[in-house]
Amino acid sequence: MKIGVLALQGDFDAHRRRLEELGAEVTLVRKPDQLDEVEALVIPGGESSTFLWHLEQSGFLEKLASFVRTRPTFGTCAGAILLASEVTNPPQKALNAMDIAVERNAYGRQVQSFIGELQWSLGGQPLEAVFIRAPKITRIGPKVEVLAREGNDPVLVRQGHLMAATFHPELSADTRVHQQFLETVQAALKPAPSR
Ligand code: GLN
Repeated sequence: MKIGVLALQGDFDAHRRRLEELGAEVTLVRKPDQLDEVEALVIPGGESSTFLWHLEQSGFLEKLASFVRTRPTFGTCAGAILLASEVTNPPQKALNAMDIAVERNAYGRQVQSFIGELQWSLGGQPLEAVFIRAPKITRIGPKVEVLAREGNDPVLVRQGHLMAATFHPELSADTRVHQQFLETVQAALKPAPSR
């Protein structure tokens, strides 16, 4: 499986290592044309406003917006903010790909970063989750499936071929979240059964 990791800014290398560990072939995507070479994409954490700035400089934004409409994509933290359909605190442009609203830096100054333990819908051990200046998902549309919550807040969600996490799964030893993404990619790429 050929997975791209958007490498304009932020925490892309830890995603690369994790995906390679799980057997994927990884391309660090720095130019819009590289999106043609990959089947799926990870948009890492970082600073979503800085991502947008880079994407707008290079004519990358339109290409990325059309990629995420059909190709499996996993946005973590800033990447989740980019995939949203509505962004607040402050309002910001996004790819409008997932039916979620997110509030940036939603945990306030005192608790900007913390490690949580999540129960996730797939069962098994609790999942360690590293939150860094994390956003909160404040609304989810009817097609959005919640895979994990922190307290009452959805923090890992899926809508068809798209996944978003408000935390940094690439910073924990647990590989289950990336594994789940690779399974989502496989399901999305499987040709529809012929009748
Ligand atoms: N606070 C960042 C933003 O609003 C996201 C932080 C992260 O990706 N760790 O874009």
